[in-house]
Amino acid sequence: MIRTILRMGHPNLRKIAKPYPEDQIGSQKFCELIGDMRETLKQSGGIGLAAPQIDVPYRLVVIETSDSKSRYGDLPTIPFTTFINPVITILDDRSSGVWEGCLSIPDIRAFIERPQNIRIDWMTETGQQKTLNAQGLLATVFQHECDHLDGTLFIDRVEDKNKISFDDEFDLYHQTP
Ligand code: ZN
Repeated sequence: MIRTILRMGHPNLRKIAKPYPEDQIGSQKFCELIGDMRETLKQSGGIGLAAPQIDVPYRLVVIETSDSKSRYGDLPTIPFTTFINPVITILDDRSSGVWEGCLSIPDIRAFIERPQNIRIDWMTETGQQKTLNAQGLLATVFQHECDHLDGTLFIDRVEDKNKISFDDEFDLYHQTP
């Protein structure tokens, strides 16, 4: 079932999500939720979705980059993957910026600098603990999605207020050739 994506201003986007109970991984309720997140992500055309964005207060993120949208630049192909209780560790301070967008802040994007070398630890749908190092744009995607679990939106991280733009104005005035 496609769920409604909460938009900025909804107070539940600002709450700290709870760890997903490990004993519920694989339950019918769990499978339905992940199925809904998958459908909702697909329909939205996004590459990542965090459970709080559909008003579910748990630390769950789904990412799919398989038909990687060119507007996000170079992203490795990641088939639909569920990240349960993900934890990000920043491996070094080197940062770089990209224009980010968010399903909860439609039609707007902003230039955000984030560390580009991270590790993500999470539990899989089959209850296995996994680790992955991510660089560049993928590191940005993970940090953006995991921020949602702590009630943080990308707009909070904007440093240069001149670099917030609607999509149309972005195409007109902010595209770097
Ligand atoms: Zn977002």
